[in-house]
Amino acid sequence: MKVLSVNAGSSSLKFQLYEMPEENVLMKGVFERIGLEGSFYTLKIQGEKIKKEAPLPSHEDAVAILIQELLSNQMISSLEEIKGIGHRVVHGGSKYKGSCLITEEVLKDIEEFFPLAPLHNPANLIGIQAFMKNIPNAIEVACFDTAFHQTMEEERFLYALPYEWYEKYGVRKYGFHGMSHQYVSRRASELLDKKFSNIIVCHLGNGGSVSAVRDLKCVDTSMGFTPNAGIVMGSRSGDIDYSILPYIMKQTGKSIEELDTILNKQSGMYAISGISSDFRDIEEKIAEKDRRAIMAHYLFVNSVVSYIAKYYVELGGADAICFTAGVGENSPHVRNMIMKRLSCLGVKMDRDKNEELRFGKEGVISTPDSSITCFVIPTDEEVMIARDTYEFSK
Ligand code: ADP
Repeated sequence: MKVLSVNAGSSSLKFQLYEMPEENVLMKGVFERIGLEGSFYTLKIQGEKIKKEAPLPSHEDAVAILIQELLSNQMISSLEEIKGIGHRVVHGGSKYKGSCLITEEVLKDIEEFFPLAPLHNPANLIGIQAFMKNIPNAIEVACFDTAFHQTMEEERFLYALPYEWYEKYGVRKYGFHGMSHQYVSRRASELLDKKFSNIIVCHLGNGGSVSAVRDLKCVDTSMGFTPNAGIVMGSRSGDIDYSILPYIMKQTGKSIEELDTILNKQSGMYAISGISSDFRDIEEKIAEKDRRAIMAHYLFVNSVVSYIAKYYVELGGADAICFTAGVGENSPHVRNMIMKRLSCLGVKMDRDKNEELRFGKEGVISTPDSSITCFVIPTDEEVMIARDTYEFSK
């Protein structure tokens, strides 16, 4: 059975076509600069990469081209072959605790959550509507980034703020990157061969979050009401003392909107290093002993370690710590810094394994006598979407 996994952004659309239940990726690609000048798309078919320029005034145009490419590359002989289309939807509020079939009610809810995820949910909805129009026979499934974290207890997701803000306006911790945390924690429990286990997942990408998972259920996570909370990120601040905002507004005359942009786009590693939000650029400067690049790394590592320590205690110990996403999968330097700080818990790193496991390789980077098994597990959010979609399409 063929199933599409889709991630629609405001000007981009990523997809993967799967043969299920084998989970074989037949074709994948990304449409970029939708609605902008210079739009193009890239496809990957059996290891071969193709890039084409094409006008893409809307997401619907991208979907129309995608269908043509699927047919002309003989991935499908007719549209009827695509049984299900799964969409990544960033925000499912408190309502959605798992993936679901998209109905009129779900479409309305995704729209209702626009104020909670103004950059993401509108684009996700446009993507869904474009596929509904162009491939009407397939079922559509919504896979929410917030759903995995819905098992958090009230005492973990509430803020100590007026209770009516929670009741009336939905102010609470939601958590994000849910499909990644779910994929990685499941995989770790498979590798440990232990279903009942305490796992700490460090999703360290451009955006980053740490989560505590007990028996495959999320207990706590570092992102909050928005994806700006938690650890230091590429260009996001992570946790701060909120009182800095009124103070800076008074000092500079900047508006709350301007500060929101600064906190999201001009903070984090970018702000401290003064170089870039990309860890590769910063690591290059560390090699040259650049003080601010080194400082940025310390801030980042401190924030990750403090969440691991917190979750170690919240879980009452940990069987595994997992590193995933761009930095977690590819930076032995960052993993080394984090694991060294955890030596007080009895964590011991296997240096060779740590250097070896990069660029999509999965495995253990701790020594056999380490108190906690440390894994590198490349994340796969797309396959989580495909699996859930397949379940509804069977
Ligand atoms: P997101 O999905 O949040 O955009 P990714 O998980 O794709 O982020 O991670 C992207 C980040 O991973 C890049 O910004 C870069 O900082 C980091 N990264 C990628 N490759 C490497 C590497 N070889 N060494 C260090 N950092 C890397």
